[in-house]
Amino acid sequence: MPLLSEDELKRFCRGGSTGDWSDRATALLNQQRRNWAQLRESYAALTQVRMRPLRLCAAGVYVQHNPGRFASAIARPDPPPGVTRPCALCEPNRPTEQLGLAYHDFILLANPAPIFSEHLTVVHKEHRPQSLSQCVGSLLRLARDLSSGYTVLYNGPGAGASCPEHLHLQACRRGSLPIERTEATNWRLLPAANGASTTVERSIELGRPAIRLSGSDDEALSAATRTLLKCVSAEAEPMVNAVCRYEPSARGWSMVVFPRSRHRPSCFFAETDARMLISPGVIDMAGVVIVPRLEDYERLDDQALAAVFREVSIDAEDFDRLCDRLTEAGQR
Ligand SMILES: [Zn+2]
Repeated sequence: MPLLSEDELKRFCRGGSTGDWSDRATALLNQQRRNWAQLRESYAALTQVRMRPLRLCAAGVYVQHNPGRFASAIARPDPPPGVTRPCALCEPNRPTEQLGLAYHDFILLANPAPIFSEHLTVVHKEHRPQSLSQCVGSLLRLARDLSSGYTVLYNGPGAGASCPEHLHLQACRRGSLPIERTEATNWRLLPAANGASTTVERSIELGRPAIRLSGSDDEALSAATRTLLKCVSAEAEPMVNAVCRYEPSARGWSMVVFPRSRHRPSCFFAETDARMLISPGVIDMAGVVIVPRLEDYERLDDQALAAVFREVSIDAEDFDRLCDRLTEAGQR
């Protein structure tokens, strides 16, 4: 397995200390930018992306014109029926220049198509399907270990995961996502759904349904997350996106989960001028909407984005029912 050596990592670590996982991740990205030409080019292109704010919600939403994301915006998340394809995240199929850092059952890697100035892909060592209920404990630990520098992200199958056949997370520079800046007024407590040490809230003015779980007990939060996932769907792995960060002070973890109804909005499939290449995953739902084409960047407005969020999220009635189920589960 191509891993970065500790000596090489140390050369790229601030002050030469490799004790903190945020510093290790940053050093990995710096080493990879220096030594992997394609990644260097991707980051150079990222300095040219354009961003503009929309006013959809108080938390803020940005639209980002990022031509480097064209391939992932149009990619089929699942191979056509009867077609097998090599798994892009399994080690033999990864770029030879891509080196990783071993982290428990996962490998930290530089994301080859970054959306932010620091963007990691965190891949399970084994080829196994994407599942939040299976990896929530690892996700919480990663969010805590990276808390001084990064926020951790999850894309469910059918909800933006580019490679749903291989379990993976992402991490981006902390504070990059508008959802992280949401004030408490944007959330409404679901008192009866609260556990002894987990707070459960629903979004009220985000323009898309979301549930926020928070607390400082990782086992209780893992259990609350699994309960939420079961309430979203009785199927094995529901269509959700999740954003998780850890506050080392009193509050602990905050996990925002977006329940989805579909991956792509109708405008993605339009055959007329109405076509817009928007393919929302966790980063879009968290408030940075990626459009690879300039024409889409120029015309996406609040009204069009509201329609996109409406189409790809569960509808208002289903969201109310989900909150009811959460409340019932909390009372049992
Ligand atoms: Zn794989």
